[in-house]
Amino acid sequence: QFDLELAKIQKIYPGGTLAVEGFDLRVEKGEFISFVGPSGCGKTTTLRMIAGLESITSGDLLIRGRNFTNIPAEQRPTATIFQNYAIFPHMTVYQNLAFGLEVRGLPASEIKSRVDAIIDTLELGDVASAREAALSGGQKQRVALARGLVTKPEILLLDEPLGALDANLRKSIQEELKILQRDLGITFVFVTHAQSEALAMGDRVVVMNAGRVEQISDPFELYTRP
Ligand code: ADP
Ligand code: ADP
Repeated sequence: QFDLELAKIQKIYPGGTLAVEGFDLRVEKGEFISFVGPSGCGKTTTLRMIAGLESITSGDLLIRGRNFTNIPAEQRPTATIFQNYAIFPHMTVYQNLAFGLEVRGLPASEIKSRVDAIIDTLELGDVASAREAALSGGQKQRVALARGLVTKPEILLLDEPLGALDANLRKSIQEELKILQRDLGITFVFVTHAQSEALAMGDRVVVMNAGRVEQISDPFELYTRP
């Protein structure tokens, strides 16, 4: 059984733009899949359909064999990390991390242990009481990651999560993501327009162009293709 399965998944926006033409993809549990391609090729739309943030025009979305095509975002075992972090500025880091669990109605003791654990994993202890304005770019990105992971998703969806970071920081967060993949055993779907990043991060790379999949291959094949 696959962790994530897209079956002829297609998106036509109101107004008629065919953003994603419909393709098949099967992702194993724990796999790191990169989506790469030029701006406007349909990467974000695909990710948002997986997250439930965008309706699916036709086709099916399965997670661990269960059909989630029409299931609302908040009932999906996914978490999404956006480039702009989407941190609540009036809350501390700790409160940002607890918030998503509070709205899910988890008991206070469970919230505390989960938030403490993720703060530890992502080394955010020094800034737990800080607000967004006081954080560096790398810290903001780790808070955004922590906020997704604290909900214990089965699939972590990342939309250009490193785009706002400088080269050194990008490298270190790339490494952290690969460590998280190894340690947590969850599935990663990673959208980027940067081919080098897609190759560096992905166990497999989905190359998109104009709403279609051009190829799906492992990074080594892409490197060595004449
Ligand atoms: P990418 O993430 O690869 O840059 P997108 O998925 O954002 O591509 O966009 C794919 C296509 O769908 C583009 O032609 C874009 O203009 C269009 N599109 C994206 N979002 C919307 C929307 N909310 N309404 C209408 N068209 C959209
Ligand atoms: P990205 O390249 O990351 O997809 P964009 O700058 O293309 O981001 O899109 C930003 C926002 O505008 C998204 O919410 C997207 O859905 C929306 N959008 C993009 N293209 C269109 C479009 N042609 N019509 C309406 N909304 C769009």
